[in-house]
Order: sequence, then C-alpha cells, then structure tokens
Amino acid sequence: MKDRISQSTLPSGLTYCVRETDIEKNAVMLSLNLKVGSLHELDTENGLAHVVEHMNMVFDKYRYYADGFQYSSIGLTDFDRTVYVIKCPNESEAIRHGLFILKQIALGNYIKKETLEEVKRDVLQEIINNNKSKKSKAFKMIFDNSFYKTRIPIGDAKIIEHLSFEQVKAFHEKWYIPEEMNVIILGDIITEEANKFIETEFNSFSRKNNTECNDINRCYQLNLETGEIKKVITSEKLNHIEIYMDYIKSDVMNIKNEVCNNTLAILIEKTCVAALNDSKVEFSFFSSTFVNFINCYQFLKMQIVYCLDLHETIINVMEKVFNNIQEDSMLLKFYFEETKQDYLEYFKSKAYLSDLALSNLMEESIDHFIFNYPLISYEQKIQDLIKVIDNLSYVDIRSLVQQLFSYKDCSFLIFQGKG
Ligand SMILES: [Zn+2]
Repeated sequence: MKDRISQSTLPSGLTYCVRETDIEKNAVMLSLNLKVGSLHELDTENGLAHVVEHMNMVFDKYRYYADGFQYSSIGLTDFDRTVYVIKCPNESEAIRHGLFILKQIALGNYIKKETLEEVKRDVLQEIINNNKSKKSKAFKMIFDNSFYKTRIPIGDAKIIEHLSFEQVKAFHEKWYIPEEMNVIILGDIITEEANKFIETEFNSFSRKNNTECNDINRCYQLNLETGEIKKVITSEKLNHIEIYMDYIKSDVMNIKNEVCNNTLAILIEKTCVAALNDSKVEFSFFSSTFVNFINCYQFLKMQIVYCLDLHETIINVMEKVFNNIQEDSMLLKFYFEETKQDYLEYFKSKAYLSDLALSNLMEESIDHFIFNYPLISYEQKIQDLIKVIDNLSYVDIRSLVQQLFSYKDCSFLIFQGKG
C-alpha cells in the first residue's frame, strides 16, 4: 500500500498535508479543517459554530455539480473542530475546483444574509431529529453535570433562533484564520502537483489574527453521576443497555495505549458473552469498544440489545461478571493469548487493508492536525503495531483492568422498550 505523506506550512501560518495513497484509484478527498468548535462559543452563542458551518455549506445542499464533475461534501461541527470534506473524481480540474470551494469557505464568501433564516430552519430541524436519537440521549446524560452541556455542538434551539447575521459574520472572521486552518488532499495523486494546487489557491489567503488565544482547556470535569442506572424509554420491544465506564484522562495518544485498550475491550467482550451464553441468556447484540471524547476522556462503552422480558437476568449476569473481574483481575487472562494471536494475524495477513477506506485516512489526518500529534505512514504504523502486540503481556492489561473496574466510575444507561 502506498502512503506518502508531505506536510508544509504557508507563510500565512496555514498548514497543509498531501497524502499520496493508492487505496482508492478514482476518487480524491479534500478537506478544510479548523481548530474551532462549540467550545469557542460564548455562553450566549451555543450553536453559532454549527450555524456558521451550515451557512458555509449552502453552495451545496449535499449534491454539487460543476463542469461535469460530481462533488459530494459534508460539514461537521464538534466541540473542538469544524471540518469540511469534499470527495471528487481524481481529475486535476476537479481537485482544483474542490480547493476553490474550500477557499470560498475560508473566506466566508458563501455566507449571505438572505440565507440565514433558511439555514436556521435546517439547523433547528436537525436538533429535533437529533433529540430522538439514542446517541444524543446518552451524551446528554454523560455531559449532564458538566460545562460541556452548555456547549453541545449541535447547539441550543432557543439561542439559534435569535442569532443575528452580524454574529455569524463576526464568528467567522474571528476564527477562520490561517493559523487555525489546515488543508488536506488525499488520494492517488502526485504529491508535487497537489502541493502546487494548494499553494496556488491559498497563497493569497490571509486574515488578521484577532483571537487572543486558542488554547482552550479541553478537559473540563465531567462529573459523572456514577453507579447510577438511568432509564430511557424507547418505543421498541427491545431493551438496549449502554454501560459507560469512565476510564483514563489521557493526553498521550500512543500505539501502546491503543493496543492495550483494544485488547482489553475484546477480553471483556469475550468474558461477558461467555457468561451470558453459560446462563443461556439470548441477546441479539453485544459490543465492547473504547470511545474517545475529544482526546481527553476515554470510556469503555458496552452495548447489549436483548428482549424486554430478559432484563432482570441480563442485569444479574452482568453484575456477577463485573464483580468477578473486580475481585480477580487475572480473570480476563483466559482469553488473552488467543486474542493476541488473532490481533497479530489481522495485521500480518494484511486483512486490515480490506477495512481501510480513504475516509479512515482522512479522519486520522484531521485528528493529527487537531491534536498536534505526528502523522506516520500507515505501513509504518502497522509495523509499530505488530511490534507492540508481539511484546504485549497480560501484565500490561492487568493494571488497566484494575483501574477500569474500580467500579465507582461507571454509568449505566438503559434504553428500555415498551412491553
Ligand atoms: Zn448540521
């Protein structure tokens, strides 16, 4: 697999990255990334970053054609970032036009007074739809007692209704500056050519830095109401438990951590699934993964979906498993060797390649810009991973188990169906 990375900075401070890769032949992905999100809003502005993003996206309405090329684009606003991604055919002309669009977004040229009311209606509708989703309910509860609740990226409907065009303009002017900005091109392109395209389009882009400082403190206290079981009623006849276990507050994003986390998640999943099977409890879904929250908090998230009337049994089995692991942190060792070998095999056999898409590399490249961590080629990363997995012993996992199952930092959410 080809993965050649080139990174540079324009005199204005704008950074750019070209990643030449052959995992997809016919399409190219471009992105404009900003280190600004809902955490940069004032108390009276929650939703402003999101509205600015929608204002910037009006050119598109999700399907955009120009000169016979189709461009699909998405915008995304999160706590710590705003991201615009365009996918287009792998043609020089299309790439240049894609960059032209991103530059218009950087300049704010699509932000027009006459579209504000329509954009607000779209965003308010998005909030209504989002309120119905399980994910949104889960996050609202996790953020319940924290500062984050006042900066939910999608925004506060009441505040959004009253946002003025001047506020939209001012937010864009304040935060869409070269120093906080990054452009990425990804695909089977020629690095030197792609670099030139970016330089040509963005060299003239400059804007005075009016921001005092963008060093937001990302780690506000979450204040989980721990150990508490919260119930959310849904309309299906299935129950859906989500268990969030507060994990580490980390600022180190390294391969060893990643490997330990993934291994631990699989060990817990295997142990729980075995216990449920032993008790002859039927469930339709079980998963255990680590969830990253703005690279600051990590949770182990377990999801179980099962039939309504099995609720008591499931809770009993899970409680028993948790107690056992808490009492004996060696318990998970039973599946350790087999898990480690499967994990190694996945990388050595190159099975990971079939799971890899341009969008994964894009996501990784954007994270690298937002969190300032070094970007290494995928092949190199796989080599490093194999080395770490090879040397992994249960001792590495055991301390994590003890930390995770200190038990007090655990929040249960149950999405309960109606009988
Ligand atoms: Zn939106």
